[in-house]
Amino acid sequence: MSHALGHRLRDLASQPLPEPAETRQTGILIVGGGISGLSSAWQLARSGGDDFLVLDMESEPGGNSRAGKSPLVAYPWGAHYLPLPTAESTWVRELLAELNVLQGDPAAEQPRYDERYLCATPQERVYRHGLWDDGLLPQRAIDADELAQQKRFQQCIETLKHERGRDGRRLFALPMELSSRDPQWLALDAISFRQWLLDNGFTAPTLHWLANYACRDDYGTAYEQVSAWAGLHYFASRSGVAANAHADSVLTAPEGNAWLMRGLAARAAGRIVSDALVWRIEEGKHEVAVDVLLAGRSVRFLARQVIWAAPAFVLPRVWPAMPGELRAAAQAVTYAPWLTANLHLSDFPEERRGAAPAWDNVFYDSPGLGYVVATHQLIRRHLGGTVFTYYRALHDVPPAEGRRLLLETPREAWAEGILGELERVHPDIRRLCTRLDLFRNAHAMSRPLPGTVWGAERQRLVAYVGRRMHLAHADLSGFSLFEEAQYRGVMAAIQARRNLRFQ
Ligand SMILES: Cc1cc2nc3c(=O)[nH]c(=O)nc-3n(C[C@H](O)[C@H](O)[C@H](O)COP(=O)(O)OP(=O)(O)OC[C@H]3O[C@@H](n4cnc5c(N)ncnc54)[C@H](O)[C@@H]3O)c2cc1C
Repeated sequence: MSHALGHRLRDLASQPLPEPAETRQTGILIVGGGISGLSSAWQLARSGGDDFLVLDMESEPGGNSRAGKSPLVAYPWGAHYLPLPTAESTWVRELLAELNVLQGDPAAEQPRYDERYLCATPQERVYRHGLWDDGLLPQRAIDADELAQQKRFQQCIETLKHERGRDGRRLFALPMELSSRDPQWLALDAISFRQWLLDNGFTAPTLHWLANYACRDDYGTAYEQVSAWAGLHYFASRSGVAANAHADSVLTAPEGNAWLMRGLAARAAGRIVSDALVWRIEEGKHEVAVDVLLAGRSVRFLARQVIWAAPAFVLPRVWPAMPGELRAAAQAVTYAPWLTANLHLSDFPEERRGAAPAWDNVFYDSPGLGYVVATHQLIRRHLGGTVFTYYRALHDVPPAEGRRLLLETPREAWAEGILGELERVHPDIRRLCTRLDLFRNAHAMSRPLPGTVWGAERQRLVAYVGRRMHLAHADLSGFSLFEEAQYRGVMAAIQARRNLRFQ
């Protein structure tokens, strides 16, 4: 969320926005044009609805799945991959089939995928002790005990991928809502992922590194602060397989997940309003009044149903009469701040020894996670340059401090730090970098802290069924993934449409 706009919502009491001078009507109003809001629109459109609008405060939709474009290539600003869809991810499969990326029956056990979207090999490598290693789990300079622990961990994850709870559901499903409610497994939410590793005799430094990396990468949070249930979900939920790819392959494109976002948005063509900041919601007897700042003036939208597909923490700021328990639940969500940077390079940089350049290039021991390469998917190999997207979660300080650092540290200082980190692995990076753009995302994703994933507050957000107000957004899942955002968006659309019919 743009911080200037966010602060306008925070400071509404002292700096009121203009009262609306115009009124418009709509059946279903979707607030937020990220993956969840666009998924609501997608679901409404494909079930024959056309009386809806999507509002987003930014100048283009997409939220965390937006992308940029240079004359050479498109590149992500946030989300950049989708694992092979699981059996439960039926709506992901349907979307992929609609986009012709999943070829054939979307319900097939092992679907075929368009090769252009399967990540080209090598998919990933990790830079450790001055060398690049293939894959994410370092194998070099490791003793027999560590290797044995790595093997045992992988076997344990393989078992968990297929294991079911006493209710017959998979322990870790994607979307998470379809997971088993077996209390024995939900109890893992009470401890941290680090604690779970130790309790299970996993002490190997490379395993601890991998677990911490996974939590920083997907949750923007260190593993000692992540619920063990969420930590295991990262590894054990991804059970998708393909007829023409490895089980751990991912779907990606130069622009990251923006192609998925555009696929959803295509269904809502002409119904997405950008630069539209929702700043007040009042639920009336027959409709909801939603006040929106549009091109410097306010417009009141009267909607029969509203889907809130923006982050949970914003809702209490704009809905004065929000029910108390719901307000407390929304305020309980905590967010990880993130920094991303796109480095435009005039050529591919010099390499250190070890594994060949991959799509995802991970640092073992660095503040940043590493970078992905936008041109990796392109068949044309002789390109006049490339774009690296660098990722860093500010997980090592409390989120409020991370947000302060994010906003107060000058651009030059961030750029210098990033170039310094990358220089360790590519000595000539400064010479090749023709442009470096930063994106500071203060409330990038909700944090699955111990006790929050299956705790009462999150479940209160999920259970809320208003007469006219519905909640979507990945925040309802407790962590942010494409599959979660899409699931929440589609579910909210189904509810809203049902209510509309009975009004
Ligand atoms: C750096 C980063 C990398 C990521 N990488 C991946 C990845 O590789 N794969 C993956 O699956 N997921 C990834 N994610 C998670 C990503 O957040 C989800 O995939 C998904 O994009 C979330 O969609 P959403 O709709 O829930 O939320 P958001 O993207 O947060 O969308 C919410 C929308 O609401 C709008 N909004 C907010 N307030 C208002 C208001 N008052 N009025 C109007 N509009 C408003 C915002 O502008 C925004 O567009 C990543 C996230 C980040 C931050």
